[in-house]
Formats: sequence, structure tokens, C-alpha cells
Amino acid sequence: MIISVASGKGGTGKTLVATSLALSLKDRHRVQLLDCDVEEPNDHIFLKPVFTRSEAVCIPIPEIDEKKCTFCGRCAEVCAYHAIAVFPKSILVFPHLCHGCGACSYLCPEKAISEKGREIGVVERGHSDGVDFAHGKLNVGEAMPTPVVRRVKEEANRDGIVIIDVSPGTSCPVVESIKGSDFCLLVTEPTPFGLNDLILAVETVKEIKVPCGMVINRAGVGNGKVEEYCLEENIPVLLTIPLDIEIARLYSKGITLVEGMPQWKESFIGLFDRIRELVDERSHSLKR
Ligand code: SF4
Ligand code: SF4
Repeated sequence: MIISVASGKGGTGKTLVATSLALSLKDRHRVQLLDCDVEEPNDHIFLKPVFTRSEAVCIPIPEIDEKKCTFCGRCAEVCAYHAIAVFPKSILVFPHLCHGCGACSYLCPEKAISEKGREIGVVERGHSDGVDFAHGKLNVGEAMPTPVVRRVKEEANRDGIVIIDVSPGTSCPVVESIKGSDFCLLVTEPTPFGLNDLILAVETVKEIKVPCGMVINRAGVGNGKVEEYCLEENIPVLLTIPLDIEIARLYSKGITLVEGMPQWKESFIGLFDRIRELVDERSHSLKR
């Protein structure tokens, strides 16, 4: 089963939920945690994994053979990202604009374009106290996290439980991370900002047809509008974590909730059991 942990807004406690869920399940299941928040991965700070493998993530960018090129301009025409400029007697490629789609090399009438890899990030794999772990890191200054996310997801081992920590927001890397999940846990806080971004996140998961449920973190701040929204939209609230200075203190020291307060472990196991029920109910209703 693949469970993605997402949030519209940053700083709602997604990492807290993803790491504690993984650690709570490790004694009962084979568990893998994939940190797909490749622009700012931080699950490793809490899990302190031992890394055993590191691999560069590259995208293919065009290399022009000017001896074959007739400067016809077809490649620049088809490039949706303006990564190629063709002049009467020369041609320029802008590697940082190239998305590696391959359209230019495919459509060049003279077969003058070959491809070479350009490194945009890295995927590291390891383990931490019974949890398989992988994360991606986008190189500083790079603008394309999605290929790194895709590469991290290739590490998923569907024999067990895969938990994906998704970056905040609702942009392309978020969609790429959640796509293919059996369930999406949305972590939110009960504030007007939290609700605003939560609505966008719910619309996104609905669009990609992944069922979702809610974790309300820092319950006690803000108002009751998030609960009202969940009721109206028929989204189950699966776990509520109160606003608690001790939880914040543990987090600031890089200690997971279930390690610092082991009494929470049963709540996370209950959360997983409820997700499994919801996934089973959905798959039965789809079969009918
Ligand atoms: S499409 Fe091929 S031949 Fe035409 S300008 Fe581009 S590289 Fe040159
Ligand atoms: S590979 Fe795609 S994005 Fe890159 S230059 Fe060619 S057409 Fe443009």
C-alpha cells in the first residue's frame, strides 16, 4: 500500500506525521519512507538513516552537431520552454531551460541532435532502525524538482507499506508525488490559512482520484472551520494532534513524536488501520 502524506500549507506537521507513522508500523510491517520533498527534505534529520547508496539524477539535454545542422529552426519551434535559439549560422542551447522532453532530437530532420545527461539532483537510499529510507535532493539553483521526485518514487517497494512525504503546496512535484497512491493523508492546522490551502489540496487529490483523509495538527489554535469543511465534504478526520509545547520541543530537537512520547504509537497504528479499512471499502465499491 502506498500512503502519501501531503498538506496544502507548509509547516503543518507533515514530517511529524510521516516519520511517526513509519516508526509505529515498522514492528508489524515492512515499511519504507520516501521523502519526496526534494527541495527541502528533512525526514532524515528525524530518522537519522545510514545511507548505503547515492545516485545522480540527470535529465537528457540536446547536443547539436553543427556539421549536420542546416539551421532550419524546427527544434526551436517545437521547444515549449524556449531552450533553443537558432540563428542563420549558429544555434544555442540553454541547458537550465531544457526540460529534457526529447521533442527537438525526435523532430530534427537532419538527425543533428544527440542527448547528454545533465545532473539536477541526487537520490540517496539507506535504512534506519527497521525502516527502509530514500530521499531526493534537488541541486541548489535547479528549477525542476519533478524528475527527482519521479526517481525517488522508483525506489518504492510495493511488498510492504510505502509512506511518501510530499512537498507542501499543489504544484507539479506534489501531483507527481501523490499520483498512484492508494490513499493521501492531508495534514492541516485549524486556522484560516490552513483551511484555505487545505481546500486547494483537497481539490488536487480529487482531480487525480486519490481518496483522502485528514490529520488535524495543533488542534486548539484557530477555529472550527476545518472540521466544518471536512463534514461538508465528507472527508474523514482520522487523527487529531493537540497544540502541545512538549511536541514542539521534541520536534525542535529532531526527535519524532512516537520516540519522544511513545503513548502516541497506538494512535498511529489506529490511523493506519482506519486507512486500510477506507482503502478496502473503496476497492470493494469500485469492483461492484
Ligand atoms: S532542427 Fe536540427 S537541423 Fe534544424 S536547426 Fe535544429 S538541430 Fe539544426
Ligand atoms: S529536450 Fe525538450 S525542452 Fe529540451 S531543448 Fe529539446 S524540446 Fe526543448
